[in-house]
Amino acid sequence: MREVILSVKDLKIHYPIKMKVKGKVWSQRNCVKAVDGISFDVYKGETLGIVGESGCGKSTSGRAVVRLERPTSGQILYKGEDIWRYSKEQLFQYRKKAQMIFQDAYSTLDPRFTIGRSICEPMVVHRMGTGDENEKRARQLMRDVGLPEDYYGRYPHEFSGGQRQRIGVARALALNPEILVCDEPVSALDVSVQAQILNLMKELQEKFGLTYIFISHNLSVVKHLCDRIGVIYLGNMVELSEKGELFENMLHPYTRALISAIPIPDPAFKREKVILEGDVPTPIDPPRGCPFATRCRYAAELCSDKRPALEDVGEGHYVACHIYGSEKKEMAKQMEAKKILPPKRESLLKEV
Ligand code: SF4
Repeated sequence: MREVILSVKDLKIHYPIKMKVKGKVWSQRNCVKAVDGISFDVYKGETLGIVGESGCGKSTSGRAVVRLERPTSGQILYKGEDIWRYSKEQLFQYRKKAQMIFQDAYSTLDPRFTIGRSICEPMVVHRMGTGDENEKRARQLMRDVGLPEDYYGRYPHEFSGGQRQRIGVARALALNPEILVCDEPVSALDVSVQAQILNLMKELQEKFGLTYIFISHNLSVVKHLCDRIGVIYLGNMVELSEKGELFENMLHPYTRALISAIPIPDPAFKREKVILEGDVPTPIDPPRGCPFATRCRYAAELCSDKRPALEDVGEGHYVACHIYGSEKKEMAKQMEAKKILPPKRESLLKEV
């Protein structure tokens, strides 16, 4: 049985919108529901991909895992203990175990520091070794991520985008972490460099036994790297499954739209395209029922009235949609009355 290393339970992160009333008093009128009740487990040694469009709450969830965002409610359990109930010492230790790789590696590096010093900095903060020991480890990490160690004394502006991301990876590994939250680490890079960084991440995972939470809006990238994939829409997890199962048997209408948008480099290949209409609703006032109801071609009354829970529909495949969940009979009745045909249960990646 796989060991759960991290559990996110009903995580909500709401940002209050404060308004000035009568020129003086600030009052909270509303809030942006960036994350609105997300739950998932992360198994030791796996890569969990989190996908969704910009603003859906995937980065905010990742930042909460490394304690960069305070949850409004819910829990994040690392090996069974709530990271938001840690003492100062426990938090100090947790910082070593959970590290983050950011999208824009350049802005995470101090331009006045050599990259050697940047890689050593976490070790200095965590009082890990003497100056010489830290330098030796930093040079080793540079070799591990494919950078010549004689670049140790160079500055960030002397590197390309791909090299800077390698520096970011080396620095994230400096404290021997168990979990790496990778927030769109390759989306700012050329396609060829993306492949190099993804292959490097795979190698490092095997070498150091790392667990990744890999956040991306690019399903092709996630398909290449991840073991399981969670799809987020408007601050809610709508589908979560093993990668193979998700791509072969995607269920949620939003996942189907995302997968149908993956470009296939074969002009002769024809398949069903799912075009989404309308905009994503505002996270200040999301729909009361299913968050996807305003754009879903299968929506019935039940979808506007009741939010579907994320339910296991078999073999660890979770989906939040009334078509497949405990309300499926009622949903089928309503769809039949409206003459809505249910989605075909087949891969969109097959030729049609
Ligand atoms: Fe569409 Fe209804 Fe399923 Fe939501 S619950 S995805 S609106 S069919």
